[in-house]
Amino acid sequence: MNKNSVKSSETEQTVPIKATHQLCHQLQLNPAHLRVEAQSPFRFKAPHHFIQQIKNQAPDDPLLLQILPQTVENEIIEGFKADPVGDLAANPVPSLIHKYHGRALLMTSPRCDIHCRYCFRRHFPYQQINQNHWQQAIQQIEQDTSLGEIILSGGDPLTLAEGQLIKLIQRLEAIDHLTTLRIHSRTPIVKPQAFDQLLAHCAQSRLQKVLVVHCNHPNELTSKSAQQMQAFRQAGFTLLNQSVLLKGVNDSVETLQSLSQALFQQGILPYYLHQLDRVTGAAHFEVSTHRAQAVMTQLRALLPGYLVPKLVQEIAGEPNKTPL
Ligand SMILES: *Cc1c(COP(=O)(O)O)cnc(C)c1O
Ligand code: SF4
Repeated sequence: MNKNSVKSSETEQTVPIKATHQLCHQLQLNPAHLRVEAQSPFRFKAPHHFIQQIKNQAPDDPLLLQILPQTVENEIIEGFKADPVGDLAANPVPSLIHKYHGRALLMTSPRCDIHCRYCFRRHFPYQQINQNHWQQAIQQIEQDTSLGEIILSGGDPLTLAEGQLIKLIQRLEAIDHLTTLRIHSRTPIVKPQAFDQLLAHCAQSRLQKVLVVHCNHPNELTSKSAQQMQAFRQAGFTLLNQSVLLKGVNDSVETLQSLSQALFQQGILPYYLHQLDRVTGAAHFEVSTHRAQAVMTQLRALLPGYLVPKLVQEIAGEPNKTPL
């Protein structure tokens, strides 16, 4: 066993707390004061590790706001749509999204360990994804020599069994024109766990490896996530982070500054700070572009350049994420 892997003593505790009332009870919150939406079709889900980082009796906790379904999600707001980034239109085969030059995104798993209320895929028809579609996607990748990099995304790819992921990575390694494997995952932050087999495989892979985690607030980072990051680093991964700019969660200079510094403490460089995708149900998280730019100006004055994320927006039909 890798000495940096996270011990499995956590397993008894990792049963997700499904019901919102249980969550409120555990955090000593009165659901009547919170406008909880217990019936949301995008159901509540969060791992124990993440919930442990939420403060008790704090209805405005920045981690709680990311996971608690609220009635405000039901409001119909003009300009907010089910598929704001045009992913459905960009699928050549189900599960492969090829929008940008040289890299394509493979929807590897239909599941996530956490349901983030602002997620742009909250209405995505994930049932499409299964292993037959991988077969088709891999054929497409084999034929398209313009592709150098495959991004395993989701859902969350690290919710799959390690054996399945290793098989998939072996298929990609066999495609000569691929140079880079990228994994986009929130799992190492919200539910750190041992990935010994996967990392042992990746350590000897011929592909360059990048892990882009997703962390929005410094309170999400723990000693367990630090161990997890060290294990990925030792297996040869470059570590980057993407965040979403979220009102009430991380839309202050102080929070973003400490987020960048806390990430760097764990060996992770900030990559993207995304302007919210305008997905139905997430309007209450939106920060205006004007304010986002003002925060970025202040952030640049406080941090070394390598700790300043790029503020970007995904605009359907554009050839890259658009810098703001
Ligand atoms: C964001 C995204 C990528 C990766 O873009 P980078 O700028 O390389 O990080 C690739 N494909 C799709 C479909 C994306 O949404
Ligand atoms: S982990 Fe990522 S894909 Fe999953 S719900 Fe959160 S933002 Fe969406």
